[in-house]
Amino acid sequence: MSRVIIIGAGGVGNVVAKKCAQNDEVFTEVLLASRTVAKCDKIVAEIREHFPQSKTVFTTASVDADNVPELMQLIRGFGPALVINVALPYQDLTIMDACLETGVHYLDTANYEPRDVAKFEYSWQWAYRERFESAGLMALLGCGFDPGATNVFTAYHAKHHFQEIHYLDIVDCNNGNHGKAFATNFNPEINIREITANGRYWENGQWVETAPLEISQDIYYPKVQTRKSYVLYHEELESLVQNFPAIRRARFWMTFGEAYIKHLSVLEAIGMTSIKPVNFQGQQIIPLEFLKAVLPAPESLAENYTGQTCIGVQAKGIGKNGEEKVHFVYNVCDHAETYKEVQAQAVSYTTGVPAMIGAMLMLRGDWMKAGVYNVEEFDPDPFVEAMNRWGLPVDELSGIELVRD
Ligand code: NDP
Repeated sequence: MSRVIIIGAGGVGNVVAKKCAQNDEVFTEVLLASRTVAKCDKIVAEIREHFPQSKTVFTTASVDADNVPELMQLIRGFGPALVINVALPYQDLTIMDACLETGVHYLDTANYEPRDVAKFEYSWQWAYRERFESAGLMALLGCGFDPGATNVFTAYHAKHHFQEIHYLDIVDCNNGNHGKAFATNFNPEINIREITANGRYWENGQWVETAPLEISQDIYYPKVQTRKSYVLYHEELESLVQNFPAIRRARFWMTFGEAYIKHLSVLEAIGMTSIKPVNFQGQQIIPLEFLKAVLPAPESLAENYTGQTCIGVQAKGIGKNGEEKVHFVYNVCDHAETYKEVQAQAVSYTTGVPAMIGAMLMLRGDWMKAGVYNVEEFDPDPFVEAMNRWGLPVDELSGIELVRD
């Protein structure tokens, strides 16, 4: 039915490509392009080995996604309906520009970030609204798990369970073990920038800032474990509090083990997580980029990873019958299972599957309108249905307050 370009062949790109291969009725032709074409070729070779029955036709290409003319040439040469951007957040705007120039729809999983300052906000991408609208094109922002499925879960709460959501807590637990002393589960540079930044949550109409990892509590993750979890700023909070204005407080929580925090504190204390360039033997280098080069690649963690992730959204407020209500919508995903299926750990899997689903809904016309949108602005039901079908079963738990005030 459709041709798409996937840009980025890292942990997430691998999963998106393989899920497209599984869903070959929708994704008939896929061009997988990235900076290093060898990574694309490796993924396509694995697809031929593990999914020999797939009818999707794959080709690969090398592209520098920081370069708009190069991107336009790639897009014009292939003629896709949609570009799925799973490169890095730094490339969001150049890929959006190229999509506008060539008349192609756009989807990504993380908001744009400038390289020189860790600043998570949608303003740069929301500024493209009018241009996409007048071109008759759609851009879907943040369609991974968090952001992505967590926005869908919030919309699902609002559609099926609540008249008004007053308190929203998004919780993200990785209870897996990869056996390495210190490693990050997705791009280390992006991950460390997110964790070492100040925390922030929404309360009574304004943002409350915290020191990094200042607020914590033990949270029970159904089917997984009780884990200490920390308040972080996460980008979906920004669009959710705008799209659900009755929300009085919105927080995002993530688990970190003690060893992880200890390593990170040392690296931070000695300047290794800095994004300010330093002079090293006559060359300017960014310590965090150097650190990335010496840490294990996220995709290399997959093979021996055990345990599960549990990511969900707790909502509290006024239920459909006017009662006080607390409800939790979530998914549990197993690292070893996802490795068996697509040779990836669960963090890449839980991001890549929603990206494929969002693309499918756009291509089928279920989620299609001109402009720039966040995921919660669409009907959550076809997305939840597709999560159940494509490997991320959705569960619900009512009446138990997992996250306390
Ligand atoms: P990786 O670092 O594993 O992969 C990134 C890929 O993008 C690599 O193949 C890299 O190529 C390629 N790339 C980087 N720069 C360029 C460029 N200028 N031109 C072309 N290709 C480029 O990251 P992940 O797969 O872990 O993450 C991908 C995206 O998913 C990120 O934006 C991340 O923030 C997002 N994410 C979203 C989540 C969510 O739930 N919403 C969760 C996890 C991740 P090369 O290998 O040659 O450097």
